[in-house]
Amino acid sequence: MSDLEKDPAEVVHQSSEAEGPVLELLEARQVVLGRTTKVRRLLPNKNRRMVGAWCFADHYGPDDLTKRVDPYDVPGAAGMLVPPHPHTSLQTVSWLFEGEIEHRDSVGSHAMVRPGELNIMTASNGIAHSEVSLPSAPPMLHGAQLWVALPDSVRSTVTPTFNAYAELPELTLDGARATVMIGTVGGVTSPAPAYTPLVGADVIVEPGRTVTLPLTAAFEYAVLVVDGSLQVGELNPGFGEMAYLGTGRDSIELVASSNGARFLLLGGEPFEEELVMWWNFIGRTHEEIVAARNDWMASIDAHGSDRFPVVAGYDGDALPAPPLPGTRLKPRPRSR
Ligand code: MN
Repeated sequence: MSDLEKDPAEVVHQSSEAEGPVLELLEARQVVLGRTTKVRRLLPNKNRRMVGAWCFADHYGPDDLTKRVDPYDVPGAAGMLVPPHPHTSLQTVSWLFEGEIEHRDSVGSHAMVRPGELNIMTASNGIAHSEVSLPSAPPMLHGAQLWVALPDSVRSTVTPTFNAYAELPELTLDGARATVMIGTVGGVTSPAPAYTPLVGADVIVEPGRTVTLPLTAAFEYAVLVVDGSLQVGELNPGFGEMAYLGTGRDSIELVASSNGARFLLLGGEPFEEELVMWWNFIGRTHEEIVAARNDWMASIDAHGSDRFPVVAGYDGDALPAPPLPGTRLKPRPRSR
């Protein structure tokens, strides 16, 4: 997915000290993407910019695409309709609970994103992709779009890549099972490429059950509830809410509501590099973002460039970048 906001705010990350276990409820911000999709944005959050290297988390749906009734007072088709747009210095993780999305990208990939299958795109210095709900897609669409920041050591040198995994390892726990998207949970490791110590998992807890989830003490974690609700200490995150857990835990006890619970577990070593995030770009400096934007706009005019090759097979125009803000994109205090 793309950050299609008309006037995206500059987001500057600054490093933070690890602080041990905490419990904080992070609420979503409603964002309309383009004309057709409304999402709940959990990261960046005004209280927590990142969880490990996870720097962006949108949760959307479940939406019934067949109704073709625009729930958001925006005329147009239902579902995902994101034209080719660029990314830099990050990985996109596309994860569906229901539905289907067609993915195309500038390294020649054409894939259907389906529930329980991991689609991970490593942008490096530049990649572009499109994401579309086809008319043939199942009626319900429910998913998450996540970004993982790449560390400076690899972000310009790793080869732009798209990987799809139809089969992922599962961890069976007493009262729950976890599909490991990336990284390791309880000794079960995903084959997906990761460039910092991090983890992502899709966890389903049986109705009313208490599950003890194994964690890594050096990681910070959050859980994003996508079905039912959880009791986490004194917190009770419900649908579309995130509970931030901090660092320093070997495990955590989670209690599912009487109708069960499903959540994404996101975690990783606190990401200490400062980031500048603007639109669909991640960089380290103002100049870098300006250059990426210029290169993307030039690639649209040229129908593809070395840095941002054309997204083959997409029927339509690429997405122009919005204007840059009038001020320099620069590091600033992390406080809100
Ligand atoms: Mn995208």
